[in-house]
Amino acid sequence: MSTKVAFLGLGHMGGPMAANLVASGLEVTGFDLAPEALEQATKDGLTIADSAVAAVADVDVVITMLPSGKHVLGLYDEILPVAKAGSLFIDSSTIDVEDAREAHKRAIEAGHRAVDAPVSGGVVGATAGTLAFMVGGSAEDFEAAKPLLDVMGRKVVHCGDSGVGQAAKICNNMILGVSMIAVSEAFVLGEKLGLSNQALFDVASNASGQCWALTTNCPVPGPVPTSPANRDYQPGFAVALMDKDLGLATNALRANGVDAELGLRAAELYGKFNEAGSGGQDFSAIIEDIRSRSGNKSSEGEK
Ligand code: NAD
Repeated sequence: MSTKVAFLGLGHMGGPMAANLVASGLEVTGFDLAPEALEQATKDGLTIADSAVAAVADVDVVITMLPSGKHVLGLYDEILPVAKAGSLFIDSSTIDVEDAREAHKRAIEAGHRAVDAPVSGGVVGATAGTLAFMVGGSAEDFEAAKPLLDVMGRKVVHCGDSGVGQAAKICNNMILGVSMIAVSEAFVLGEKLGLSNQALFDVASNASGQCWALTTNCPVPGPVPTSPANRDYQPGFAVALMDKDLGLATNALRANGVDAELGLRAAELYGKFNEAGSGGQDFSAIIEDIRSRSGNKSSEGEK
């Protein structure tokens, strides 16, 4: 591949993603506002530009991995006018569906191509090159983006037109937030009823309560030794990120008149938990919040 790439936003996710592109033999020019991100990117073999505008001047593909839609739209306004005509813009940030559609529209109007390609898999997946990409955009632009996404990920799914990559991300994480709360409430109820955590796990993991929140990210220590509950809820997937994603889900639910009581309630519970100072914990720590509101002790289900 002789494709030249600009990578903008070299933080926890973008840094290792860009490093994997370099490791695959691609020429990658990077830019970030944070000096420490640039320092690491230099070590990873990126060419560092003085600005985002300078980074995109002579490339074929521009990848962004930024905190929010506001950042993506702001940066697009700077770089769309100076990028080479027909450049492919891939935004992998997690942002509102409406912002993703607006970013796509502005890129097309400026004479470029664009897809939204948010990811799942966290920093571990970004580092290992095993992310899952959910892509929104035309079939042609998806095919153009796919070889690069294949370098950074293990699973690349074309979900449909622009914005639906973000829609897939938001819907998936709404399922995850709601299911983690449901699993945690079941463990706390089991504890009240004298049912051990292990016994409930043995039953539910082989019955209709089976789900990822239970069998991979189990919120109690013991049954799944690799789950964050076994290391004092170090993430994993942090509460602050779940709070952000449920906020995006809330915006989409309200904008589209969906009567999603559980999605909205999950957003509220994670919002309060985040505000209470738990943003840095794994999202499965929500069980501690449910326990404390229920008068249970952490050790109660271990008998
Ligand atoms: P981060 O804060 O570590 O990185 C974002 C980077 O963007 C920062 O280094 C910041 O300096 C840079 N930035 C901001 N404005 C910029 C600009 N105008 N020009 C250049 N750089 C700029 O965040 P992250 O954890 O890497 O997450 C990035 C995106 O990926 C977010 O949208 C997040 O929701 C999503 N995401 C994160 C995870 C995760 O586990 N961290 C998982 C899936 C998706």
